[in-house]
Amino acid sequence: MAEIVIRNLRKEFGNFTAVKQSSFTIGDGEFFMLLGPSGCGKTTTLRMIAGLELPTSGEILIDGEDVSQKPASQRDIAMVFQMFALYPHMNVRKNISYPLVSQGLPKTQVRERVAEVARILDITDILDKPVSGLSGGDRQRVALGRAIVRRPKAFMMDEPLGALDAEFREHMAEELRALHDRMKATTVYVTHDQLEAMQMGDKIVVMNHGVVEQFGTPQEIYDHPATMFVADFIGSPAMNFLRFNGSFRGGDTGVILGGQQIETPQLQEEVSARDLVLGVRPEHIALTDSGLYRGRISATEYLGTTQIVTIDAAHGTLKARIPSGTVARVGETVGMSFLAPTLSVFDAGSGRAFRTSANQGVFHG
Ligand code: ATP
Repeated sequence: MAEIVIRNLRKEFGNFTAVKQSSFTIGDGEFFMLLGPSGCGKTTTLRMIAGLELPTSGEILIDGEDVSQKPASQRDIAMVFQMFALYPHMNVRKNISYPLVSQGLPKTQVRERVAEVARILDITDILDKPVSGLSGGDRQRVALGRAIVRRPKAFMMDEPLGALDAEFREHMAEELRALHDRMKATTVYVTHDQLEAMQMGDKIVVMNHGVVEQFGTPQEIYDHPATMFVADFIGSPAMNFLRFNGSFRGGDTGVILGGQQIETPQLQEEVSARDLVLGVRPEHIALTDSGLYRGRISATEYLGTTQIVTIDAAHGTLKARIPSGTVARVGETVGMSFLAPTLSVFDAGSGRAFRTSANQGVFHG
């Protein structure tokens, strides 16, 4: 069990900076996701926590101890690179015992610890089987067992489900999460899949080009994105962006878009005329005759209980998620209303979200 504190962590490879001044805290027992597109620095961050890569500067504290410059062997962290990396010539029991036998633990203790792990993973009945004949799910459990049996302070997992097909991946994701809920071991998990991060994580760090864009619970990140990058990366369809030139004062409760007042959470900054972006999640748009903000439907996509309606408007194209029973015809001009408390307003230049009564305290401290 461990709390891991990351402070101003930086990693340079020659002239290239892979991770820039990252700071966040992984709580004891948390299932913690490092999320972002390919090349954003997730794996480098994970490897620095595990001690497989030393930081250029910054600190990594595990339970208050600065381990930044210590080798992996002194950090007591188990790395689960790839679930299927097993020793093919050994049976399940030998695969799981291997780390303990290499540590020189007495035989009786090894047996006890392996039996305990097998119970947790529900693989007691296959302990004496060769790993070569196992199903994908069982192989994955055995690989996990080998990491768990060491009783490390924390687990590091780098896209462990990446190679699996969609259905099995979902099943294993549920299983991993359930296992975590039973064991409560601090786990850091790298993924580029926003849905996986939202479903499994207690907390998420969203990275882009080596920078931590936001750090918070899945709901904080979804409801109150700190930047346009996060707003766009999380959610499917992504948050809609309506671009306009405008201004507002602290205390205002709306912005003017194409002559129409659009109600927003109370704005807490003062901004003179500049390029702004109104962010609206697809499910927070309703089609209504009385809606003064209007657009033309260019496509509809039936999804069973809901439908995605694409609407071309003066400030951008929107995707609205509405009940499939609502009539929406391509070519029709419709009025829209937006759910005011859920809207975000961004600075188009920097991509930063302005402080409002809704997001206050979530990412601006
Ligand atoms: P992916 O999901 O593609 O692995 P990632 O977010 O995990 O992406 P990293 O593997 O951390 O990204 O890599 C971040 C950047 O650092 C990439 O541009 C990568 O090419 C670069 N990089 C990583 N390791 C090294 C290295 N040993 N030497 C030079 N550059 C590296």
